[in-house]
Formats: sequence, structure tokens, C-alpha cells
Amino acid sequence: MTERLYDNGSCLTFTATVLSCTPDGDAWAIELDRTAFFPGGGGQAADSGWLGENPVIGMREVGGTILHLLGRPLTVGETVRGEIEAEPRLRRMQSHSGEHILSGLFWREHGLSNIGFHMGSEDVTLDLDGQLDREQLLRIEKMANLIIARNLPITVSYPTPDALAALDYRSKLDLTENVRIVSIGEAGEIDRCACCAPHVTRTGEIGMIKMLDFIHYKGGLRIHMLCGLDALEDYHRKYCAVSSIANALSVKPGQVVDAVARLEEEISVGKAERSALCGRLIDLHTAALPGQDNVILCEPLFTPNELRRLANAALERVKTVLAIAGNDAGGYFYILGSSAIDCRAMSRELHAALGGKGGGSSTMTQGHIPAAQSAITAWWAGTH
Ligand SMILES: [Zn+2]
Repeated sequence: MTERLYDNGSCLTFTATVLSCTPDGDAWAIELDRTAFFPGGGGQAADSGWLGENPVIGMREVGGTILHLLGRPLTVGETVRGEIEAEPRLRRMQSHSGEHILSGLFWREHGLSNIGFHMGSEDVTLDLDGQLDREQLLRIEKMANLIIARNLPITVSYPTPDALAALDYRSKLDLTENVRIVSIGEAGEIDRCACCAPHVTRTGEIGMIKMLDFIHYKGGLRIHMLCGLDALEDYHRKYCAVSSIANALSVKPGQVVDAVARLEEEISVGKAERSALCGRLIDLHTAALPGQDNVILCEPLFTPNELRRLANAALERVKTVLAIAGNDAGGYFYILGSSAIDCRAMSRELHAALGGKGGGSSTMTQGHIPAAQSAITAWWAGTH
């Protein structure tokens, strides 16, 4: 059983004796008499770092023995200096200790249990077995950050089976021996939870807790959250994003919400005006159509939907229409509609003559032709 030095989360360097060194695939599995490397568990990833000059490339726990995977062997009996890579460990402890504070508050204030915890590459998620609204979440978030500001101790203990039986703590296990209890507060009054992972030693080290989004999930709530340095980076990214939007809209950062709402309104008015102008263009195209069996119509700036409107309007007056939009450099999007011929057969002829692809029904096809307008017009004239 390896002696664990990570019960004190601030222990990042240590010396230890190599007890065994065995080949493990392409690596070597090193057993030490004691280690500050956390092998992973309870939602928290394993530590990275070095044994001497050698990077620890993986961690494993077999029974009570912690194994460090290295790219080269060490000598049994030698003394090595271990060093944990500090910043990733700090970020993980900030997230995990922050999650304990929140989970303790959700339990105390609302009787809700944490039933899932995941530290992902983008954020941390915490699943609750009940519902809360945004205001309730904001209240808990503020309480959590006040607990951080009080810089309360976070301690680890292994109560005796009797003491454990009398103890009120979250994540109750069936085990009675060697249960590791992480307590927050002078007397564990903020939270007590069975947990195997290293934690910061005082709440102030968490820095901050920010809940981001929440979704209803499996009858409960899934909360996305960030703590400490991760939250700071998220703030920086979002500050930059808001500043860029504010610059683009020529407003102050505090005015972006109103400015975006105005922009949405302008876009919506612009869309309505475009639709009305499109209708007028379609009227102009179709006014001259009576008396013709088939027609080719070009409106270079029409979208596919507008082109379909044009084709449908034309089909009220003619039997067959080829409507195209685009330009000679990029080719033309087309809609072919007819009440007289099989559009799919004609599309095939069109693609055979000028390239391109498309498909649809016997009464209407659409596609793209990589050809100049003059070539399309000439092909159309030749087939009618
Ligand atoms: Zn935990």
C-alpha cells in the first residue's frame, strides 16, 4: 500500500524510495514507498509531473499500490525526487473543491443531491436530482463565493468505523474502513463528503466559482460551471468577445445587448423589404409571359428560395420554366419546373450538355450548372 502524500493538496514535491520497477508495455511501472501523485478517481484526472528528470507519462492504481509510468527504468532502492506539475493540479483541485462547496450548499439549502460530476476539457458539469430556477442558482453561487472569501480550511480525515457511523456526510459509502472524508469549514460545517481526490487546503485557493448554463437533464438539472483559473480564462475570452462585438457595432460593451436587438430588428425589416422587392421583380418577369409555352428567366442575385418563387409564379402562365441565378464565374443555380415534360429527364440532358448536378421530382428539379449564362441560354434555345 503506497503512502499517499496528496491528502495535503499543497504537497507538490517529495522524495521517495523506489520499491519496484517492472516493464509495462513500452513503459516502466514504478512503485514508490510514498507519493504525492494522485492516480485519478472520483471525477478527477491523474496528476502529471516528473520523477527525477523523467516525465510521468501515466498513472495506475492496482489494489492499494500506486504505479507511475515512465519511459525508462529506475533502480530499485534509489531515492527519487517527485514533482507534480503544479498548474494542471491546481486547476483540477479548484474545480473539484468548488464542486464540493456547491454540492454541499445544494444539499443544505434545497435537499438536492449531486448525482453526477464530470471535469471535461471545456467545463465542469454537476448533475442534481431536482430542479432549481436561475434565481435560486444565483443565490447559491453567491453563497459559494462568500465561502471562498472566508478562506475556510479544507481538511482530510479517516474516521474510525464508529465515528464514521455517527458522521453526517455526503456520498455515503457501504465501506466502513479507511473512508476518506473531505471536510470544508472549521468543523466541517460547510460540507463533508467521502472523496478520494486531492483538494486545495483553504477555500480561498479556489479563487471563484461561476455557474454558466443549466439544462434540464434526466428529471434533474445539469449545471455547467467553472472555477479559479479556468473561470478567469473564460471571463477573458468572453470579455474579448463582447469587446469585439461592441467595436463592430460602435457601442460601449454595456450596450451590446440593446445594439444586437436593434441589429436583429434592422435585419428583420431588411428581409421583409427584400421579400417585397423580390415579389415586384417576379411580377415584372411574369407580366410579359402569357402566350409562351416555355421560358428561361435569369435573376442573378436571387437566392434558391426566391428562384423557386419565380419559377412557381412563371408556371401559372407557361408550361415549362428554367429559372437561373448566379454568375458566369461561379455558375448558376437553377430551378426547372414544368406541367408538360419530365423535369428529371430534362435535367439529365442539361447536365449531360453543360455539366453540373441536381435532382428533384418529375414536375420540378433544382441543381447547379458550372457554365456561362450564354451557354445555358443557347442550350435552352436548342431544345425548344
Ligand atoms: Zn470529490
